[in-house]
Amino acid sequence: MKFSMKKYLAFFLIFISLAGRSQTTQRMDFENYNPPSTLVVPQHKLTMAKFPFIDVHNHQEEMPDMDLGTLITDMDKLNMKVMVNLSGRNGDLLKRSVQNIKDHYPKRFIVFANVDFNGVGSEGWGEKAARQLETDVRNGANGLKIFKNLGFSVRDIHGKRVTVDDPRLDPIWEKAGELKIPVLIHTADPKPFWDPMDSMNERWLELATHPGRKRSNSDPAPWDTLISEQHRMFKNHPHTTFIAAHFGWYPNNLAKLGQLLDEMPNVNVEFGAVIAELGRQPRMAKQFFTKYQDRILFGKDSWVPEEYTTYFRVLETEDEYFPYHKKYHAFWAMYGMGLPDDILKKVYYKNALRIIPNIDKTLFPE
Ligand SMILES: [Zn+2]
Repeated sequence: MKFSMKKYLAFFLIFISLAGRSQTTQRMDFENYNPPSTLVVPQHKLTMAKFPFIDVHNHQEEMPDMDLGTLITDMDKLNMKVMVNLSGRNGDLLKRSVQNIKDHYPKRFIVFANVDFNGVGSEGWGEKAARQLETDVRNGANGLKIFKNLGFSVRDIHGKRVTVDDPRLDPIWEKAGELKIPVLIHTADPKPFWDPMDSMNERWLELATHPGRKRSNSDPAPWDTLISEQHRMFKNHPHTTFIAAHFGWYPNNLAKLGQLLDEMPNVNVEFGAVIAELGRQPRMAKQFFTKYQDRILFGKDSWVPEEYTTYFRVLETEDEYFPYHKKYHAFWAMYGMGLPDDILKKVYYKNALRIIPNIDKTLFPE
């Protein structure tokens, strides 16, 4: 009796699963549904930028020892004249990266230093970190990059979270101002990472594929808290030039970002990893690029040469409804802003030439 019940149950389960499978011909899950567009419109698949450009947001961890020639080959194909490696670290490693550049391609790479946050809270830590920055700049660094671990995971010697505006870090920001080098800083992450992970969340797929990116109000703090810390720090150091990475995580609210840039004249932005936000609002974005044309730098972040085409197309063309390269950033299509040459030149190189020291201006047109 028991056995036949089990058998019946097994057949029933097979029936249910087959019924479920046949249903997939009508129901489609979001991750699989990705049909090529049938729209026929003019297409300009740009593989190279219209003007030589400077990518201010790149990471080359292996720079102390790597063969830079492999990068140059790809850079030349894209028309990237100068790559800014934000992962320069400090001390000896930084020196070795600078030496590698000097020995092989002295004009094509710029290195930013990084702060070692171990020991915040110990006597004289801030002054020591500022001295290290001074040494790194003397050794060839031309900027400072602050990673998102500040605000997220950096703790002081008592185990307390170090806030982005912690006054114990002030000597670093003041030193950067004194040395006239920019500080490119990434704080927090896209706000949806803090929101419930459900059908209302635009970053659902990114959280599903990268569960480690999920945040909450207590892990480590609310999004607004982190962003406010960053803005307070910017305002506390008006003589230091900052570049807020990823459009300060306001690429989806350009009116707000404009208001922030108005309040903080020492702040600039770069659009690494957020071109999909600009490509879904080409008219609003074009207005923003027109108004803030002196405050925007070209950044990409992850080094995948074939992905730059999306950036060039959004900036330069008036193409309509073309695909983005990562569904977890954008399940929507892109539209080009069609920026005029004078704005393109500022975004591609003029603003970076003004803000980042020691880039050879002769590599770029007037
Ligand atoms: Zn980055």
